[in-house]
Amino acid sequence: MSLYRDEGVVLRTHKLGEADRIITILTKRMGKVRGVAKGVRRTTSKFGARLEPFTHVDVQFHTGRSLDVITQAETIRPYGEALVTDYPRYTAGIAMLETADRLTVAEKEPALRQFLLLVGGLRTLAERAHEARLVLDAYFLRSLAVAGYAPALEACAKCRTPAVRAFAIVEGGVVCGGCRPPGAAVPAGETIALMAALMRGDWAGADASQSRHRSECSGLVAAYLQWHLEHGIRSLKHVEREQIQGESPSPVTTSVGRDPASYPA
Ligand SMILES: [Zn+2]
Repeated sequence: MSLYRDEGVVLRTHKLGEADRIITILTKRMGKVRGVAKGVRRTTSKFGARLEPFTHVDVQFHTGRSLDVITQAETIRPYGEALVTDYPRYTAGIAMLETADRLTVAEKEPALRQFLLLVGGLRTLAERAHEARLVLDAYFLRSLAVAGYAPALEACAKCRTPAVRAFAIVEGGVVCGGCRPPGAAVPAGETIALMAALMRGDWAGADASQSRHRSECSGLVAAYLQWHLEHGIRSLKHVEREQIQGESPSPVTTSVGRDPASYPA
């Protein structure tokens, strides 16, 4: 297979040499692919703007010895255009790209559900029908669920008792009074109901929620995501060490790490 086509969302880019870039794309069929876009930083480049983060592109790759080379790129939907003018939506979008990148650890391992969740999340953000933090939290919860880290929200994560009292990140979700570890957060019942609504895509229920429950939900979801990214995906640290120099630092720690310290395990 020397030439192949796929569609995908550009997750990030970084400089390579004088004029090239390495483009990381979450594709529909092949999973995460890193490809070299040659001459893309020259003003005469024919596809430079199409290979920016957020863009849903149709791409042709030429298989290379180490990295594949991008030989064509056509824009399907430029989600970045709708997001750059709205800071909360832009930062939510950046957090989605970073999370999709971190939850798809292996390259060229199909991740269709993660791809569909990311495209759906970016489209919902760009449409502006729901508050950005609700869209982001729904994306976090569902992408974690696809990765195998769905939080328990209906019954105790340890003993399955339906009468729950607290949210314990290390136990994997809501817990009963008997299973509750010291220091577990005790969120409002409405906050847990909001998390469940976001998980199942009940937008009518989520849009009707109160601001204080949205804030509490965002804090819990961010802490839960952070914990799984740090503890659940150990092989990632190895991958990060091998990354090529010149990559821009990730902005996700500011957008995802919304005061997780206030929600101890
Ligand atoms: Zn229990």
